[in-house]
Amino acid sequence: MGGILRILVVAIVLAACANATSATDALPANSLAVTASSLGQRALSDPAAFDFVASLTTEIGQRLAGTEAHRRAVAWAETRLKAAGFENVHAEPFTFPAWIRGAESADIVGPAPQQLAVTALGGSVATDAGGIEAEIALFRTYDDLLSAAPGSLNGKIAVVTQRMVRAQDGSGYGAANPIRRHGPSEAAKRGAVAYLLRSLGTDHHRLPHTGALNYEDGVPRIPAAALAIPDAEQLERLAAKGPVRIRLLLTPTVRENAPSWNVVGEIKGNERPDQVVLIGGHLDSWDLGTGATDDGAGMAIVFGAARLIAGLPRRPARTIRVVLFGAEEMNFSGAAYAQAHQGEAGKIVVAGEADFGARNVYSVQLPAGAAGSDFGRALDRIVAPLGANLDRRPALGGGDDIRELQKAGVPVVSLRQDGLDYFDTHHTADDTLDKIDPRQLDQAVAVWSAFIYLAAASDVDFRSLAAAAK
Ligand SMILES: [Zn+2]
Repeated sequence: MGGILRILVVAIVLAACANATSATDALPANSLAVTASSLGQRALSDPAAFDFVASLTTEIGQRLAGTEAHRRAVAWAETRLKAAGFENVHAEPFTFPAWIRGAESADIVGPAPQQLAVTALGGSVATDAGGIEAEIALFRTYDDLLSAAPGSLNGKIAVVTQRMVRAQDGSGYGAANPIRRHGPSEAAKRGAVAYLLRSLGTDHHRLPHTGALNYEDGVPRIPAAALAIPDAEQLERLAAKGPVRIRLLLTPTVRENAPSWNVVGEIKGNERPDQVVLIGGHLDSWDLGTGATDDGAGMAIVFGAARLIAGLPRRPARTIRVVLFGAEEMNFSGAAYAQAHQGEAGKIVVAGEADFGARNVYSVQLPAGAAGSDFGRALDRIVAPLGANLDRRPALGGGDDIRELQKAGVPVVSLRQDGLDYFDTHHTADDTLDKIDPRQLDQAVAVWSAFIYLAAASDVDFRSLAAAAK
């Protein structure tokens, strides 16, 4: 193996210098690199990705998993994939406990009543029909909450106001994530009757950020909601002056065994169709906005990239499989896909998910051992003119929906998008189409299309590269 790739590195240099496909088309060995490079250039002016997310967010809107809106989105996606020339288009069903938002409000009660901007966390239980009224115990860091003694929060509403750090790579979200995921159970262990957190976001609007929680088994389940950031700061100031009482009302419901689907479309390989390059995004969204950047944009990117490849006169050797996952926000679709495709991990050459907004890709992380390979060098030369670098560090993960595949041994890739302002609108009512810059979206399509094409058209073997690097 590698013969084609070795020549490919040389070819890329030629292609970059020539900056035109016609000059190098005559050399068959150059064709992979030239094609990948020209795909990237074409993506920069291809309206397909933006059209995809504009249509989805306009004609369907929000599509919370387990709702009728999500069902409509599944039909929309199947139609869209078929119309774009994908083969084997189908929806793979699974069931899960769907969480449906109800009424939600929080009010400061007492001599100076005020309304607070809150939204329930996905998975939260409801309060009593009349709400919960209690004094708050406010912690400025999550660690302060974890340091509180058992019983010290008896009968109180725990409030954590730790700030989330703005960072291009989204690392601030990862660091703060346990505050939302595990905070409710940690507060309940210490006696709290409800839980509020400062939204995991980097904006200063009065729009709270929702997101899923994970209750711990054996711990009382308490209602939990996110405060808009200005409201969390308001509570900090009030709490510094004396006791604060809040009335919290949340009325979400759960629908057991609700249906969802992972929508699949393929571009069949013309030589080794059993070898699959799996790329995805997630079709479900939160219910507050229209899921434009999370994850309409991610789906649009992989759709746009694969569609460009589908339009080539000659198909790549391997199959490209696009999976639009059906319950990422509720953490069910990745496991459902892996379960339905047990034993197939060995056929998947590499997997990646675009689920980090609509901005440009600035860095590519390949599976371990691949950055220094012929494949890595070839890809680096193609994506550098597009404004992306090959990161020498390997991808640690490829997205929530492919984590189970990764555990089963599938190599993963991570195309890092600029996330500096992603968490200004993430999981809020403000996640809408106007936040997407089509030119940045197209750049992401360009980098993805180059990667997907090279992985599908070459004989790169990421498992061997990883083994050799050990
Ligand atoms: Zn997402």
